[in-house]
Amino acid sequence: MSKQKRFILQEKDIPTKWYNIQAEMPNKPLPPIHPATKKPLKAEDLAFIFNLECSRQELDAEHVWIDIPEPVLDMYKYYRSTPLVRAYALEEALGTPAHIYFKNESVNPLGSHKVNSALPQCYYCKQEGVTNVTTETGAGQWGAALSYAAKVFGLECAVYQVKISMQQKPYRSSIMRTFGSTVVGSPSMSTRAGKDIITRDPTHTGSLGTAISEAVELASTTPNCKYTLGSVLNHVSLHQTIIGLEAEKQMEMAGEYPDMVIACFGGGSNFGGIAFPFMRHNFTGERHTEFIAAEPASCPKLTRGRFEYDFGDEAGYTPLLPMFTLGHDFKPANIHAGGLRYHGAGMIVSQLIKDGFMYGVDIPQLETFEAGLLFSRTEGIIPAPESCHAIAATIREALKCKETGEEKVILFNLSGHGLIDMSAYDQYINGDLRNYQLTDEDLEKGLARVPHII
Ligand SMILES: *Cc1c(COP(=O)(O)O)cnc(C)c1O
Repeated sequence: MSKQKRFILQEKDIPTKWYNIQAEMPNKPLPPIHPATKKPLKAEDLAFIFNLECSRQELDAEHVWIDIPEPVLDMYKYYRSTPLVRAYALEEALGTPAHIYFKNESVNPLGSHKVNSALPQCYYCKQEGVTNVTTETGAGQWGAALSYAAKVFGLECAVYQVKISMQQKPYRSSIMRTFGSTVVGSPSMSTRAGKDIITRDPTHTGSLGTAISEAVELASTTPNCKYTLGSVLNHVSLHQTIIGLEAEKQMEMAGEYPDMVIACFGGGSNFGGIAFPFMRHNFTGERHTEFIAAEPASCPKLTRGRFEYDFGDEAGYTPLLPMFTLGHDFKPANIHAGGLRYHGAGMIVSQLIKDGFMYGVDIPQLETFEAGLLFSRTEGIIPAPESCHAIAATIREALKCKETGEEKVILFNLSGHGLIDMSAYDQYINGDLRNYQLTDEDLEKGLARVPHII
């Protein structure tokens, strides 16, 4: 008898609109500001590097529901709906009375949730006459998703990949090149920003911050080329709400409603994607769901960062964003969850934390792989090292339920599979991985260079 129970939506029930949480948040996020003028940004300012439609969505605090364009919906149907799964075998292994569900965003051919935003971003670029897109990528999931989406909509794509991740996960560069993209390790000598970083620190192994600087520079110096971002920004989380909107219908099919929603946290897009559609019922007071974002102990912006205006990138090219940050040149340890090695938290989530609608937990690397192994051995899916953070946080909560006897309903997002990350699993199994503990002095160093605007 099958121990897994899966809930899948029929094509006609796949949501046709995204949920724009900005329009319903009790307190709006502070505006992003221009680094030189210190004035709030307008959509036209953002459209200097982003396509215009995403620039508008970024600042839209008015429209609650935003139509998913027909060609994007058609592409979503290649892999959506994604299954909602009741993880009976995991529950049994933990001996917990909790009901554990996961939304499986690993089932598309790119292997992570990132394609949910890559498709609309490339579609809007095409609509607006853009010919080239560029971006940064860490572990490579965003670069892979964008490479595919660029091909779908007939765009050329150049990706700056964090150098250390390129070495740790060589197959992701292969995937990007298979879809026709150009891939460059960052920091590189191909941009002003890259040269400056290498001159300061010749052994720099790269970070999302360095790669963003390089991609932004390429976009702002190349005609018809737009920059795209796979996380952090409001419009990316908006596109990802397809995850939570489907999950809401699927939980209804299961006859339950989550007491807790959990996701791993890099820049917040898969978290926002699964959490925001449920959170709207907390705003009205109709539900009291707990929302937990799981971050690495080695990159703890939610739990140990500071709320400040900071740059989104290492060189300081981006607008200043109001967010929990560790400082824009914070260099996280080389943990395997490459997608979670980012210094800042994004504007919406940072406001939601301040307002008490959600909170972060930080998890050491070894605990995440222990969780990943248990999940693999019970549910048969090898999770991405990033997703292992969500699983570890879920296991912590499920074990608390075991102590108290509470039958809580826990929903977590399985943001991706780990089949391109097997060297990380090998290292864990061989006992070669370790935890990284950050001291308060380490944190102060990064925070000292945040431009103090608040
Ligand atoms: C990129 C990525 C993340 C982290 O990014 P968020 O924007 O925080 O979701 C998490 N999991 C996977 C599999 C990823 O590819």
